[in-house]
Amino acid sequence: MTDDHNLNECLFCRIAAGTVPSHAVYSDGELYAFLDIHPIRPGHVQIVPREHHPCFDALPLPLAGRIVALGQRLSVCLKAIYGVPRVGFLFTGGDIPHAHAHVVPLVSKTDISSRRYIIEEDLTFRDTPRVPDAELRETAYGIRSALTRGETI
Ligand SMILES: [Zn+2]
Repeated sequence: MTDDHNLNECLFCRIAAGTVPSHAVYSDGELYAFLDIHPIRPGHVQIVPREHHPCFDALPLPLAGRIVALGQRLSVCLKAIYGVPRVGFLFTGGDIPHAHAHVVPLVSKTDISSRRYIIEEDLTFRDTPRVPDAELRETAYGIRSALTRGETI
């Protein structure tokens, strides 16, 4: 945990602590995984450690390993639920300075990409739509159920 950390100012600390509502798909003493409310694709999950670390390179290796292991389990479930051949897993940290991993069912090759691959100079970006809570509840239930069953390919 960082010295200058203020739990009240970190959105992901508040989500992991349950003071900001979210749609959980997994929870234990160290990790919390929940649905992105502006998903790249349905089933887009974010995994956060409960302990605040500003970026992934600050994570103790065993904790980073647990995040990757949960990402692998989620990937198997998301492939089964969405019928996609691949699931992307990435640590970014460009938005919220609390280490987090995105787990995204890859429907299109460009679902996770880079501006550097795009030839056009002028691009316009937008947020993906906010998914209604009723739909997120249903999605989270499906993923939790698959995790509980120990979904296999
Ligand atoms: Zn935090």
